[in-house]
Amino acid sequence: MKMRVLKQIIEPIAVSDGGGVKLLRSLGQSPFTRVDPFLMLDEFSSADPEDYMAGFPAHPHRGFETVTYMLEGHMLHEDHLGNRGDLRSGGAQWMTAGRGIIHSEMPRQESGRMRGFQLWVNLPAREKMKPAAYRDIQPEEIPAYPLPEGGEVKIIAGTALIGGQEIQGPIQGVSVHPLFLDVRLPAGGKFSQTLPTNHNIFVYAYEGWLAIGAAETESLLPVHSAGVLSDGNQILIRATDAPAAFLLLSGLPLNEPVAQYGPFVMNTREEVEQAMRDYRDGRLV
Ligand code: MN
Repeated sequence: MKMRVLKQIIEPIAVSDGGGVKLLRSLGQSPFTRVDPFLMLDEFSSADPEDYMAGFPAHPHRGFETVTYMLEGHMLHEDHLGNRGDLRSGGAQWMTAGRGIIHSEMPRQESGRMRGFQLWVNLPAREKMKPAAYRDIQPEEIPAYPLPEGGEVKIIAGTALIGGQEIQGPIQGVSVHPLFLDVRLPAGGKFSQTLPTNHNIFVYAYEGWLAIGAAETESLLPVHSAGVLSDGNQILIRATDAPAAFLLLSGLPLNEPVAQYGPFVMNTREEVEQAMRDYRDGRLV
């Protein structure tokens, strides 16, 4: 058994994206803040409609997958394939851009809090040009399971071992075998899991601070920061003296070159330039 420790802390930066939505970006703020196969993580949280009303008008993607997970609020997704899906509190959307998708995500509320995350997951070179696909995951498909020592976990993708039982999330069969968990802990509460040694793992604290690792190697992860974990097969995460909530992402690294220009993520600069030409000429999708 080898306990994973906190290896790197990625502090978020405030950015504005889409039509002018205010976001906190941890992963993906630079090429040095990716955690292969995860390219980007944005958190959005505001009760001020000024911060989110502009939404994300029609824009393209190629070469990876975008995952939206809503904690609170209501957005409408529409894409060139004719998909139209409501994203509601507790729901998610797993979109495979593949060779190309053009979509929009616009608020369906004029007041109240909008809160959630967007994660970008890379595709292996052999899948970057596959057809686009889209999956809407309703809140009731992501049930919360109580943890034996208090708190709860929601499994969005992959399979977790909770209280001795294997529990599957709604998203399965992705090549990089992602495990995507949303964990809520009471003050002092603990979460542990055995995860594959060949996976890269990061944790994003969105409420409260976390202590990561066993007592003698424990280090603190501040709220709104992403913590990248070292090699190992065990994780142990503890809420400090206040309740905490965090996302845990584990996935198989691709170990392939990443060439990115905005919403296009390919392996070479030539492929990115091709994507830009295809988009300009109306041949992206
Ligand atoms: Mn998008």
